[in-house]
Formats: sequence, C-alpha cells, structure tokens
Amino acid sequence: MGNMQKRLSILGSTGSIGVNALNVVRSYPENYKIMYMSAHSQGDLLIHQAKEFSPTAVAIGDPDQYETVKAALPGVEVLKGRTGLLELAARDDVDTMLNALVGSAGMEPTIRSIEAGVDIALSNKESLVMAGDFINTLLKKKNVKLYPVDSEHSAIWQCLVGENSDDIKRLVITGSGGPFRTTPASAFNEITVAQALKHPNWAMGRKITIDSATMMNKGLEVIEAYWLFDLPVEKIDIIVHPQSIIHSMVEFVDGSVKAQMGIPDMKIPIQYALSYPRHLPQDWEQLDLAKVATLTFEAPDLKKFKCIQLAFDALKQGGSMPVVLNVANEEAVYRFLNGDIPFTAIPELITKAMNDHDYLEHPNLDDILDLEKWTKAFIKRS
Ligand code: MG
Repeated sequence: MGNMQKRLSILGSTGSIGVNALNVVRSYPENYKIMYMSAHSQGDLLIHQAKEFSPTAVAIGDPDQYETVKAALPGVEVLKGRTGLLELAARDDVDTMLNALVGSAGMEPTIRSIEAGVDIALSNKESLVMAGDFINTLLKKKNVKLYPVDSEHSAIWQCLVGENSDDIKRLVITGSGGPFRTTPASAFNEITVAQALKHPNWAMGRKITIDSATMMNKGLEVIEAYWLFDLPVEKIDIIVHPQSIIHSMVEFVDGSVKAQMGIPDMKIPIQYALSYPRHLPQDWEQLDLAKVATLTFEAPDLKKFKCIQLAFDALKQGGSMPVVLNVANEEAVYRFLNGDIPFTAIPELITKAMNDHDYLEHPNLDDILDLEKWTKAFIKRS
C-alpha cells in the first residue's frame, strides 16, 4: 500500500525517547519526514541529528549553545531558549508532534501544538497530569488526536481497539515495583542516588527512573489514564508485575481480561504511536515467553510507597492538587538527585506543598503556570 509521508516534530530529540523515535524514522525514511527537533542542553547531539535528518528548524534550550549550533547548521533555522521551543511547538506544517520533553516544561508545548491543529504523540505525561481537563477540552475544539507513548497507556490503547468504552470494568496498570520492591521501609532512609538510578528492567532518563523508584511514576500514570480514557478513578487500579512483560490490562464487564505484552523496551510503544493504526515490522529482540517462563503479580504496598497514595489523593481532590503534586515531585526529585535531601523526604515535601498551597477548584492555564512557580519556590526553600 502507498504511504503518505508523515511530517514529524520531535521535541526532546536527544533524550532516550527522542533517540528511539529517530531510530524508527531511520528505518522507515519513506514514511516519515522530520520537520523540527529540539534539545535542552545536548547541543552536540542535536547538531549530529540535524545533519542526518535535515529538519527545517531546530531549537536549543541552553542559550549559551545557540551560536555553536547555529554555526554548525548552515541552512537550518535555529531557535533559542524557552521562547524558541514554544515557537517551534506552535508551527502548523506538521502532522504529528512527539512530545518527549521531561517534566512540567512539556505542558505548554503540548498545548501550543494542539492549538496549531497538530496531532500529539505524548510521552510527556506531566502535560496531562497538570492540565488534563484543559487539554481534553482543547483536543475536542481543535479536532486533534492525542496518542499515548507511555508503555502502560499504549498497552491499554491497544487493548481497547474495537471495544466499546461502556464495556470496560477497570483498567489495570502494571508496574515493575522498581529497585526497592523488596527493600523494607525501615531501610528507605539510607537509599542512595546510585541505588535509586538502577532500574531492574527499563533504561530511561534520570527523572523518570527516580519516579519509578518512589513509584510516583505509577501514580502519575493513574492520573494520565484518567484523562486519556475518561474513566472514574475507582476504575483504575495498579498491580505490581516485576518482569515488566505485561504492559497493562483492561478488564471488561463480562470478566474477560485483555493484556498487551512485549519486551520492556520503549521503542515498541514509540513506534506504535507514530505508525498507528498499523504495526510496522522490525527485526529487534522478540518476546520469548518460554525464556521468561514466569510472570508474577502482587498488590502495590501503598504504605511503603507513599507517593502512589499521594497521587490517588490528588486525583480525587482534583483542581489544583495534581498540579502541585507533579511540580513538587519534580523539584523534590531534583533535590534528591543533587544529594540535597534523603529519598524519604520526597513524599514528605510533596505532602507539605499539597497542604500549604491555596487550593483552586478550577485552575485555568494562568493559574496552573502560577501554581508551578509557587510550588517550585516552595520546594526549593523547604
Ligand atoms: Mg510508563
């Protein structure tokens, strides 16, 4: 069959999601054309990528690297800083924007692209955690599609192909349990940065790896699923599955359960978000269930992993709570990575920020940006 070439913008092209997405593009050059790419601080890699994929324009976040990037890429428009990133996100001569940015910084670019009428492949779950209501309203208004890249949500999306949403009993989001699944809570105080950065199954960026260690990542994914699949929080559950082979499940009203499986590697959900509704052939490592042999499951320990409960609380309370939860978590994670606070202080600081902020029931976009600033400052001085 003949393929229309899809025009792509990849924001965060030098991170692990961006690099995997470019691998997909490299293997299907007839299917995809890179229009725009952006990097925060890895200017050298951005230059290298731009030379290979010839985008129309790139954005470099770090203003100190602007001149270097510009000099290295004659004929390519080079934009600078946060303003440059937002300008790139607003361009409309693109079919799909892959948002592979890290953290709350990814929210506004998502919104800019939807406003421009561009479909979104969303890896930046923080966009939905912070502004799910606003984004869903805008998607409808602009008739724009949002495809999940997060492996759990990709799994649920794949399980729901051909199904009627009235038939869903619940979603079951799987999580590996992270590196401290079997560590007793009493030892959590001594957890080091190096230990927290060692994920048993997935190779990911630093922020999300710490989120997996605290299991806040599952909490954020519950909130993400709530906005993506339009189900009440009571119908979204978490189960710990240490092998990370089942990426999530959907249980239907008749008791039938569908699960999506695969090797624990982000390249599969990344490619599906770009190739949907088709699955494109790849000769990468295949799932060998005989070799995996055993799949096990256990209930998550909400007492030990306090961040999960905080996320459920924030979602139930709604309004400004998920915004503060998300930003407080992000800042606390950076403080932990800097060796500034112990691992156990992460949920403590988030709790403080959630309790101390001025709660808003219906925050608009300006409110969300103000809350982001307030929360960052609050965590920095706490
Ligand atoms: Mg995930």
